[in-house]
Amino acid sequence: MKTVKKYQSYTLQNYDHIPQSSSLSCEDRQAIEVVGRVLPFKTNNYVTDELIQWDHLEEDPIFTLNFPRRKILLPHHYSEVEGLIARRDERKLRASIEKIRMELNPNPSGQEYNVPVFNGVRLHGLQHKYRETVLLFPRPGQRCFANCTFCFRWPQFSNLPDMRFSIKEDYELYVKYIKAHPKVTDVLFTGGDPMVMDASLLRAHIEPILSASMKQIRHIRIGTKALAYWPYRFITDEDADDILRLFDDIIRSGKHLTIMAHFNHPVELTTDAVKKAIQRIRNTGAQIRTQSPVLRHINDCPKLWAEMWQLQVGLGCIPYYMFVARDTGAKHYFEIPLAQCQTIFREAYQKVSGICRTVRGPSMSDHAGKIQILGVSEAAGEKLFVLRFIQGRNPDWVAKPFFAKYNPDATWFDQLEPAFGEKEFFFEHELGNYLRDALERDTGAY
Ligand SMILES: *Cc1c(COP(=O)(O)O)cnc(C)c1O
Ligand code: SF4
Repeated sequence: MKTVKKYQSYTLQNYDHIPQSSSLSCEDRQAIEVVGRVLPFKTNNYVTDELIQWDHLEEDPIFTLNFPRRKILLPHHYSEVEGLIARRDERKLRASIEKIRMELNPNPSGQEYNVPVFNGVRLHGLQHKYRETVLLFPRPGQRCFANCTFCFRWPQFSNLPDMRFSIKEDYELYVKYIKAHPKVTDVLFTGGDPMVMDASLLRAHIEPILSASMKQIRHIRIGTKALAYWPYRFITDEDADDILRLFDDIIRSGKHLTIMAHFNHPVELTTDAVKKAIQRIRNTGAQIRTQSPVLRHINDCPKLWAEMWQLQVGLGCIPYYMFVARDTGAKHYFEIPLAQCQTIFREAYQKVSGICRTVRGPSMSDHAGKIQILGVSEAAGEKLFVLRFIQGRNPDWVAKPFFAKYNPDATWFDQLEPAFGEKEFFFEHELGNYLRDALERDTGAY
């Protein structure tokens, strides 16, 4: 017997209908009402029925991941919004929400530099930062099964239309763009969550890439949180079998398919539904690689990461990335100093066997690339961070160790200075040229 679960989303409008909502205190509700006006709040009945432990709400990590808590806003932002709600001043409230959102750095890491102009058209639904890989943002995929309170793509779901990445132009132009860049081997569908699309829409985006004229594409990836937030997508949703057939077809066309699965906490790997979903995906021959940022209040503990990687490997998934939380949204609530991120990574890595050590991190996606903190060391009497690029805007930067002055409080790369009294990091001059060119170029980065 299969358990069929029908998707039910809960937002600011209907969270009272959550069967367990009587566990919410007055303070919880007030926080949801206030913070939920600024950051997009959405959860669903899988998260509320199967992941959240309602008798431990105070510390429950999945609750923190989905439900706005008071401290997710800075105190002065919180009291401003709370005051305007109490005064029922909708006009002022909207203006204040707008202003606060702009103060939350809605578009971190210069993602606009990754959007190419092609044949005179800016491709709003494509990012091309690293030579081999283009990201595609299908328009109907710019939602998620639930919204993460830490999300760096939160403007995708808020009313900030200028900051949305999404395919608005003719899809054929995107396919042409890829053909015009023969070094591109990977297409990564992302969002939002592309798995919110029904099977036929997803197929319509993927099929043009399977055609004989697209031999250059070897790997197709789908970035998704569906396994953690709605595994029924692959089991009992009406078109679940069509999704798996699409995966079969991708693999039969001779391409590799990886599901880039986003898991933040071991709990997300323990339900029958997620285990079944993973198994069904793996039966198609697709691989599942896993990634997550390291987040205070959610997973800032080495034991928990070791457990997460072991559970993933046990289910046949490949641990891939540990990220540093991006400098946006509720960063102040979730952020962890880089030094501590590295300690969490190292201690977790030391606890697991080699088959879990496919994971790389902690990694910061900055303007220049994915920068990994390899460790803390000392040379010439100076305490240092040893860093390297996992990915770079210029591939030549990759895999060469470089050094920054140790700074125990830094939470992002822009707070680091080069070691040994040097004026700039080895790539900074070149990066400036890349960014200047990027906004004017007509053919993408490469
Ligand atoms: C992470 C990322 C990729 C994929 O990088 P891999 O190391 O190949 O997984 C591609 N484009 C952008 C903009 C990214 O941030
Ligand atoms: S699933 Fe990903 S894109 Fe969606 S809200 Fe969470 S972090 Fe953001």
